[in-house]
Amino acid sequence: MENDTIAAIATAMGESSIAIIRVSGSDALTCVDHIYQGKNKLTTVLSHTVHYGHILDPDTKEKIDEVLVTVMLAPRTFTRENVVEISCHGGLIAVEQTLGALLKTGVRLAEPGEFTKRAFLNGRIDLSQAEAVIDLIRAKTDKAAKVAIRQSEGKLSTHIRALRNDIVETLAHLAVNVDYPEYDADILTSQYVVERCQAINQELERLLLTARQGKILREGIATAIIGRPNVGKSSLMNALTQENKAIVTDIPGTTRDVIEEYVNVRGIPLKLLDTAGIRETEDIVEQIGVQRSEEALRSADLVLLMLNHSEKLQTEDIRLLEKIKGFPTIIVINKLDLPKRIDYEEIRQRSGGKQIIPLSVKTEEGLSLLEEAIKVMFFAGQVDMNDQTYVSNARHIQLLEQAKQNILDVMSGVEQGVPLDMAEIDMKNAWQALGEVIGEAVAEDLIDQIFSQFCLGK
Ligand code: GDP
Ligand code: ZN
Repeated sequence: MENDTIAAIATAMGESSIAIIRVSGSDALTCVDHIYQGKNKLTTVLSHTVHYGHILDPDTKEKIDEVLVTVMLAPRTFTRENVVEISCHGGLIAVEQTLGALLKTGVRLAEPGEFTKRAFLNGRIDLSQAEAVIDLIRAKTDKAAKVAIRQSEGKLSTHIRALRNDIVETLAHLAVNVDYPEYDADILTSQYVVERCQAINQELERLLLTARQGKILREGIATAIIGRPNVGKSSLMNALTQENKAIVTDIPGTTRDVIEEYVNVRGIPLKLLDTAGIRETEDIVEQIGVQRSEEALRSADLVLLMLNHSEKLQTEDIRLLEKIKGFPTIIVINKLDLPKRIDYEEIRQRSGGKQIIPLSVKTEEGLSLLEEAIKVMFFAGQVDMNDQTYVSNARHIQLLEQAKQNILDVMSGVEQGVPLDMAEIDMKNAWQALGEVIGEAVAEDLIDQIFSQFCLGK
């Protein structure tokens, strides 16, 4: 049943002193009235007002908690249904008891993502906005959260809608020709279609280009710090984590996951690989050095190869310089505070001209240059990251790729002179694929799958 009344704890479980229970459905007010005691019955109050009172156990009439209750009437709510939010103050047990009392009144516990699903089904948000809510909950950095917020504000949807309009216009043009072939506008139409497709393709490519950056913002740059024992890998890692602290999002209502191996370098999340291996000082693993590094290399988006400024290049360094060929690498020459013994020219030659950053983790000289280098490497040319729409969702990327392929097929078909109604099919497929990004024409099971990724209460 889609219209029964549902409830869930909407705030993260744990330390927070206030927890909110969200109730949504046509009977939300009546149900809460069964367990709420205040100046007025909630069914009699105005929409979007807050009320003080107590929650009583419906059976024993015992007081469970002191609460503030917010009443929001349909349709001006997130789900477009009647919504009541109960702010509990009495800690975890009181929240659970309140929820339990509520369930006795005929309210059902919401499935994960069910509130957002209702918002979608009731036309309050489109699918890409709903998915942005998922991303927001999982966002690991402020920037990733910003991307998600932008998407939830519908920026991507706006682009997609514009593209779909372009396609419809082109289709209309095509249809005239397919329906009235004697009208002999063939050549003109072909030219027009190819031009329109080129523009559409360009926009699709632009969106797809943002996908790589979107992925980085979402998942972090998998970074491997490699080098011989004692060059300073652990020290660098500590410096990065101390300076930048672990990442926490400060969006109210999102789960505060502190993921230690993530560090935030100038707004870019680095996911430090093999943290455990590098952190341990008396590490057996580090004695196997090179072999271990090779494993880290394979899964890295970024390799920081560390050398020692104060020692001549050694066989193991040279082997590592060989290994990093073909990987996005920054060569970090540590211990700049000590006398120079390393030959920079040799490194330049052996590395095939990779970027070299000399620094001292000890004195912190050059550390900021390394951070800047990482930023430039992954966001070259992106002066203002805040003004971008990022495509960062795998499902969106796949659909955009598909639409792009369809558009390319239209172009090559038209250029090779295939009948225009064939082009029409590809064009419609592109339109369909883009529709799926924003949830128009999406199969039912896909919707269920997407919404089941939500945390409870969202
Ligand atoms: P790892 O084996 O590569 O992880 O190296 P460590 O981070 O454990 O560092 C090895 C030694 O080098 C430690 O005694 C550090 O204090 C020292 N060290 C690290 N960075 C610097 C630096 O920039 N300058 C100097 N002088 N010593 C450093
Ligand atoms: Zn170490």
